[in-house]
Formats: sequence, C-alpha cells, structure tokens
Amino acid sequence: MPELRKDPIVGRWVIISTDRAKRPSDFVREAVRIKGGFCPFCYGNENKTPPEILAYRPNTNGGSPQKDSPGWTVRVVPNKFPALGIEGNLNKQAEGMFDKMNGVGAHEVIIETPDHNASLAMLPAKRIEDVLWAFRDRILDLKKDRRFKYILLFKNHGEAAGASLEHTHSQLIALPILPIYVVEELQGAKQYYVYKERCVFCDGIRQDLENGTRIIAENEDFVTIAPYAPRFPFETWILPKRHESNFENSSSHMFENLAKALKLLLMKADRVLDNPPYNLVVHSSPLQDPTNEHYHWHIEFMPKLTKTAGFEWGTGFYINPTPPEEAAKFLREASVEDVAPQTAAAR
Ligand SMILES: [Zn+2]
Ligand SMILES: [Zn+2]
Repeated sequence: MPELRKDPIVGRWVIISTDRAKRPSDFVREAVRIKGGFCPFCYGNENKTPPEILAYRPNTNGGSPQKDSPGWTVRVVPNKFPALGIEGNLNKQAEGMFDKMNGVGAHEVIIETPDHNASLAMLPAKRIEDVLWAFRDRILDLKKDRRFKYILLFKNHGEAAGASLEHTHSQLIALPILPIYVVEELQGAKQYYVYKERCVFCDGIRQDLENGTRIIAENEDFVTIAPYAPRFPFETWILPKRHESNFENSSSHMFENLAKALKLLLMKADRVLDNPPYNLVVHSSPLQDPTNEHYHWHIEFMPKLTKTAGFEWGTGFYINPTPPEEAAKFLREASVEDVAPQTAAAR
C-alpha cells in the first residue's frame, strides 16, 4: 500500500511507494563522466573568466599573489552569463495591479578545484573545507550590501542536473527577495516554534537519532539523514546537530566536520547510485535576520533519478518511488573506505 506522508516543516504531502520500492539499480540514468575539451575553469585559463572576486592561493610564500593567475585551490568569479545584474537600485514599481523591480543581484561561480577531472566527492576533505570557507567569505562580503535579502548557494552536478560546464563548481545567487521555498520553510518552522517552543529541525534530528532508520551518517557536529517525507528518491539532508540558524556563523571546527560529512555522503551516493547527476542547495536564514531559535540551516542533496512530470507540476505532490528508510539503509551500508582521494590530492 502506498503511503501519504506529510513534511512536518512545510506541510507538503508526498506519495511514498512502499510496495514496489525502487532499488538503486532500477533507476535508468546516465552516470556523470568527464569528457574533456577546452575549459575556462582549468588551471592556466584564468584570463578566460571574468576577473576573480576571491581566490585561495596557499603557497605564495608571503609574496602578494597575482590575481587571475595559477596557484589557487578555490577561485570565485562572476558568472559570465549572470541571471541578475550587480549594478543599480531595485526601483520597485507597480504596473497596474502587478509588481516589478530591477533584476538586481549577484551571480558568482565557485570553482572548487583547478583539476578538471576531479569531482567534489573526490577532493580531499581539506579541499572541500576550503570550498565551504569560500561560501562563507562570499556571504559575509555580500551581506554588507543592503539590497540583498537572501543568498542561495547551490551546485548542479552533471548535465542532467543543469550543469553547463563539467569542471566541478558551485554557484551563488544573491537575491533582493526571499525565495518562496525558503519562505515556506521559515514560516513552517516559525509556526511549529510558536506552538511548541522547540525547533522543528532539532526535534526531527532528536527523533531520528533515537529511531535510527533514516540516519545515514553522523559525526561530532553533523547528522546526515533521509527526511521523513522526501520529494525525491535518495533525497538527503545534512544538518548541524546543535541549533544554528545561519550557515555563515559556523565555527572552523564545524566547517571541518561539514566537509567530512559532505565528502562521505557524496562518495556514498557515487557508490550506490553510480556517479549520479545531482543538485545540492544550502538553506540558511535570511541575510539581515538576527540568529533565531526556530530556523535551522541545512544542506539538501537531491540526486537526479526521476523526472518531474504532469502530476507533480499540476499538484505540487511528488511521487517518491523509494521510501527514505530504504534509501538511508543503502547509503548507510555503502562502504566507501576503498574510495581513495584521487588526482586532486596531488596538488
Ligand atoms: Zn576544467
Ligand atoms: Zn534547530
């Protein structure tokens, strides 16, 4: 019998298929493979991107590093085809009954490694940590701009997940408005908090840790879980164990453990689902909001295994063919000890 399950945060119902549950091998898809060819994100092609905004060059031996030159481990550049433009004011206007404003925002690309053949999963945890520091540094900088209300960090991995360049990278978009999905989470979390005086995410983490069936991994600071009512098969969340509303306020200790948690999840997903295309998003509190007790920042990981079709578009219901308890079991039990950090470790 299929099950209807309700997400306790946003109140969204999903259909979980329990009788004909799909195993990892049942999903037909194309594994992500590196094809090669000219790439503006590669070492030595620094002049092929817009001028860099930020770069980490650990081995400059005290000399001042030269911008847009090799020697970097992580590099942040403006998106060459930005969704929003950085200049100008919002100029909010009415057009009769309609509302509009200028498309002001920032759209940046975080190039996670100079190595074209590496994936984020293959990078040593220390290098993944550098990527997380770059996320934080960019948020702290863009936060000063009062035009921006929200920054979404996300990653498209593989063509099927929307990546237009195969060289591993993440993106950041600073927005002058709050995105609707975040608003839904914020409102749902606030409602739960007003009613119970507890964080809905903290409650979920506590219950899942006691029960164990949806836990994939945990370390000192983070827990990796399959949510109770996931929209997609193998959807996975990484959450800080202690309540934190803002990603950018994390301590260095937390970035270290988040890098480890993320690497472990990505390696497990590569193992179980054979290098799937995926999307990854960071959900954090709005920029100018003070830290709060009701919203709990987290990372959402969604491998691209199914297609969104008419029923989903028409209803907002998702049909998930893999119960999260099964997905968690596959990922939890996947052994990745023999997946050695590859090429990028040499740099
Ligand atoms: Zn490249
Ligand atoms: Zn919490």
